[in-house]
Amino acid sequence: MADKFDVIVVGAGPAGTSCAYTAAKAGLNVLLIERGEYPGSKNVMGGILYRKQLEEIIPEFWKEAPLERPVVEQRFWFLDKESMVTTSYKGLEWGKEPFNNFTVLRAKFDRWFAGKAVEQGALLINETVVTECIVEENRVVGVRTDRPDGDVYADVVVLADGVNSLLGKSLGFHKEWKPDEVALTVMEVLNLPKKTINERFNVSDDQGVSVEIFGDSTQGLLGTAFLYTNKDSLNIGVGTTLSGMIKKKLKPYHLLEYVKEHPMIRPYIEGGETSEYLAHLIPEGGYKSVPRLVGNGVMIVGDAAQFVNAIHREGSNMAMSSGKMAAEAIVRAKELDDFTERTLDSYRKELYNSFIGKDLKKYKDVTHTFEEHPQYFTDYIPMMNKAANSFFTVDGSPKKEKQSRIIKSITEGKGKIAVAKDLYRAWKVMK
Ligand SMILES: Cc1cc2nc3c(=O)[nH]c(=O)nc-3n(C[C@H](O)[C@H](O)[C@H](O)COP(=O)(O)OP(=O)(O)OC[C@H]3O[C@@H](n4cnc5c(N)ncnc54)[C@H](O)[C@@H]3O)c2cc1C
Repeated sequence: MADKFDVIVVGAGPAGTSCAYTAAKAGLNVLLIERGEYPGSKNVMGGILYRKQLEEIIPEFWKEAPLERPVVEQRFWFLDKESMVTTSYKGLEWGKEPFNNFTVLRAKFDRWFAGKAVEQGALLINETVVTECIVEENRVVGVRTDRPDGDVYADVVVLADGVNSLLGKSLGFHKEWKPDEVALTVMEVLNLPKKTINERFNVSDDQGVSVEIFGDSTQGLLGTAFLYTNKDSLNIGVGTTLSGMIKKKLKPYHLLEYVKEHPMIRPYIEGGETSEYLAHLIPEGGYKSVPRLVGNGVMIVGDAAQFVNAIHREGSNMAMSSGKMAAEAIVRAKELDDFTERTLDSYRKELYNSFIGKDLKKYKDVTHTFEEHPQYFTDYIPMMNKAANSFFTVDGSPKKEKQSRIIKSITEGKGKIAVAKDLYRAWKVMK
């Protein structure tokens, strides 16, 4: 192994691997360090992988990547205790090239993706923990690992070490995340025969469904549950902000059991055998929690930088794009032979001009607003279910009368002004 590399990337998740791939493809000498037995062995994701951002790195990746199913239907369920209001979009064009998104199992996908970076010339070493960055004269010059003689040097170190990013914290780029800046999510992979999945979700072998579940699935807390179809298994999970769980004294595994036993969900997963049980944090602080991204000889990408759009459950795509942008900035810095913060800062500028910066900014107040005003989950979703029940129950009363009764029941309970305020607040943070 060389003593000095152009780039050391810490962490072979989507962010680190796309950085390593892009830099190696441009001819740089890249070391990719992963603490797991292999890339993906420790990684957790609900399972939706977006086509667009990976395609920009590996065109037509779907022809060889280990994917589960292309998603052709996106469902949204708004749960009360024994009912749900649903909405969905199904489009058969999503089942054909170039597709929209796919379900994946990270253990298989990450391993394949890191292999592609190796094909481009990156050196991957597994089962190696980076314990700290080596800093000399206010500049990161390498990393210390838990291997004997484990110091390695590079012009630039890219921190792609995920949500916990101890390395970013130790450099003083950010503090310990607060409980309202992260969501705790638990999930299971449940094995079921393909035929059963197809029948229950009304799809064929090469079609998948994603279901986002709101309301009673989190017992009124800010968060969602999800249910995704793989080839021969389902991913089911639930997550809420850590602060919400602490406040309500909820245990994450109790919440997942509650979701699995919910009468609206149970029929879809019945008979499924648990093959994996996973828990992980998701960074959900958004725009205001993004840490310092660049220093002399160092950059932060992916979850380590809080790049997650919780509203659209996009994380892996932001990880990949940020990794690619970081690599491109390093290639430019290499041409100038200047790895100072000033030069590497082109990454930060490009990032804020991209969909990542713009989307994080658009939703900058959403998480905090909905956490401070839980009535959207605790009051309005049950109200919506009751209204649907009342409107669709044929009981002999004229529809116009029903309509007025429903509107009255909503405004009487909370007051017209309070309802108007809630609607305005929600519109303002989502617009
Ligand atoms: C339950 C759940 C569901 C999700 N669902 C979706 C979804 O459906 N779609 C979506 O797009 N996103 C989803 N996300 C978010 C998505 O998983 C992340 O945004 C994405 O994985 C971030 O990629 P990353 O490379 O930044 O970090 P990670 O994927 O966390 O990778 C970090 C890597 O660094 C390694 N590492 C960490 N520290 C060290 C160290 N010191 N030394 C060496 N290696 C180290 C880790 O082992 C790991 O391989 C979900 C997340 C969770 C938890």
